[in-house]
Amino acid sequence: MKRGFYVGRFQPLHEGHEAVLREIATECDELVVGIGSADKSHSVDNPFTAGERHVMITRTLATLDVEAFVVPIVDVDRNALWTSHVKSLCPPFDVVYSNNPLVTRLFEEEGVEVRELPMFNRAEYEGTGIRERMLSDDPWEHLVPETTVEAIEDVDGVGRLQEVASDDAAEE
Ligand code: NAD
Repeated sequence: MKRGFYVGRFQPLHEGHEAVLREIATECDELVVGIGSADKSHSVDNPFTAGERHVMITRTLATLDVEAFVVPIVDVDRNALWTSHVKSLCPPFDVVYSNNPLVTRLFEEEGVEVRELPMFNRAEYEGTGIRERMLSDDPWEHLVPETTVEAIEDVDGVGRLQEVASDDAAEE
């Protein structure tokens, strides 16, 4: 039995994340998905709450043939302690899947196997670009799964992002 771990901020969960989840599901019997920066929300870089991202992830996982556990993980201000923090919150896992250099480095230093993932259409499947499209009222829905569109529309996520962005501008 092999259990894989995949962490992201999922701000929002996009088609690149979904393709990765599909890929991992072919290699692992079970999957632990960490909602990174679970304490962050209502900002330009992190507009969605952990609960909202939980909805995006669980509804996407429901379309895959894999047993999965979704675990919110708040950030800690000491990188050296982060892997212990993750392990204290998650079911045990055998292998980490990541393309994030810091995540890879921290787990490898602990002797955990890290597998790199293929990047899927990174030019478009990328959180920052998707949030910028939302801010400028450009189409973004084709870059995320339908389940993410629904989760964002349910909470007026685009309206929220535009409002917090105008707050940020006012503070500068
Ligand atoms: P993300 O949502 O940007 O990406 C998640 C993963 O998906 C990454 O491995 C990324 O490379 C991959 N990915 C993104 N787009 C892709 C695409 N188009 N095709 C294939 N793969 C793609 O999230 P992230 O910022 O990498 O998440 C890491 C989390 O770990 C953050 O929440 C961070 O705060 C947390 N973290 C915290 C600490 C700490 O608290 N000290 C330390 C390390 C990491």
